[in-house]
Amino acid sequence: MTSTQHPLHLRHDGRPPFPSEEVTQWKERITTYPYRNYLYSYPHKTAYRDLEPPVPLEPLWREEPAETFFLYMHIPFCGARCGFCNLFTLPDKRAEVHTVYVDALERQARQWAAFTGGKPFARFAIGGGTPSLLEPVQLRRLFRIAEDIMGLDFSTASLSVETSPETLSEEKLDILKEHKVDRVSMGIQSFVAAESAAIFRPQNPDTVYRALELLKQYDFPILNLDLIYGLPGQTMESWLFSLQQAMQHEPEEIFIYPLYTRDHTIVKPEDMRRQTDIRLECYKAAQRVLAEYGYTQYSMRRFAKDTARSGKTILDYSCQEEGMVGLGCGARSYTRNVHYASRYGVSRKATESIIADYVAAERYDTADYGIVLSLEEQKRRYILKAVLHSEGLKLADYSGRFTSSLWSDHPELNLLLQSGLALNEEGVFRLTPEGLGYSDSIGDWFISGNIREQMERFVLP
Ligand code: SF4
Repeated sequence: MTSTQHPLHLRHDGRPPFPSEEVTQWKERITTYPYRNYLYSYPHKTAYRDLEPPVPLEPLWREEPAETFFLYMHIPFCGARCGFCNLFTLPDKRAEVHTVYVDALERQARQWAAFTGGKPFARFAIGGGTPSLLEPVQLRRLFRIAEDIMGLDFSTASLSVETSPETLSEEKLDILKEHKVDRVSMGIQSFVAAESAAIFRPQNPDTVYRALELLKQYDFPILNLDLIYGLPGQTMESWLFSLQQAMQHEPEEIFIYPLYTRDHTIVKPEDMRRQTDIRLECYKAAQRVLAEYGYTQYSMRRFAKDTARSGKTILDYSCQEEGMVGLGCGARSYTRNVHYASRYGVSRKATESIIADYVAAERYDTADYGIVLSLEEQKRRYILKAVLHSEGLKLADYSGRFTSSLWSDHPELNLLLQSGLALNEEGVFRLTPEGLGYSDSIGDWFISGNIREQMERFVLP
């Protein structure tokens, strides 16, 4: 019997269904407040702690089963801190600060190249922060480090670089083109000057249009634009205006983010409570508009044209993002069971001191801050990564990897099926279009008690 023929009166784990009142109450909890927590990684970095004793990196990477790796470089500098940003980044435009930072990243790469054992990289991304803030000479150095030290082959890896409108120049784009960058991503957030100003991101729309024109001339295989909805002062009309402006520039990919504010971000949650929350409405409107323009929805945030692919033959890489080698301060690295990074901070004082330690270090050969994933957490991570993506989770892949069934490990997932937020079709468990819109509250519901407790106990420096 296939899963689609499963008798309706039984759950997928063979037990009687959850009582309908329980399902109704559960669904109400999930849908009443969709923006609880944004899980762009699991476990979240605020659950990282000191690793005692520190984990030596050489044996950790030697034993990593992934056949190919993802190389990530983090540039933790921006022109200014945006009002909603809780990323690890420091507002610092000084070229000399960037130079010593890249020096440190190069030292780290020389040590790590020996650990990753010559396995190929299928993906390379430079993110931040704002990598395009770097002077051309430092930007070029990052590609040299990737190729000459880490052994990256630009012709078989997909390459992605994050940029911002005011930092783009022809000289920098020449460097990206020369190194066969496939995807250039630009954070715009809003085409309305007053909305950008309200999130402390001084951005003249003319600068954005100029940057978009410039990018068009370079014709990278994939242009990605980021927009945010639910900004202070934003209305449905102004949101649709920003979306339409983005559409005029025909990006192959677009990420739309609901605004999140936290106690330690510049724009505070209480600032947002003063206005009506239009995020769900904005999301639904964007879903409609983007479908009309021919975009396929891949997750709550990512929409892309089917043509959004590079012309290269890229090596396979597990979408589970294991084997992610993160160079630079603030970069996370993922092996199958250890996730690690430098310490996390948001305040200027904390980021400055963490970056100063990184730049002063001579050795980068142990992981002293992170989390060791139990089998239980590895399963949760696997489920979340697959289910919060439109492709969903292949039940056979899950049982092949963990030698157990999804339904016996997590019978509570039947709530998603019974509430209509997910379906089980041809052996694939996936969220419905409605369910995708609640990805954040579903993700937040599914994280383990242990991780939740650690995240909640986290005290920001
Ligand atoms: S949102 Fe992006 S550009 Fe703004 S401060 Fe954060 S990392 Fe920098």
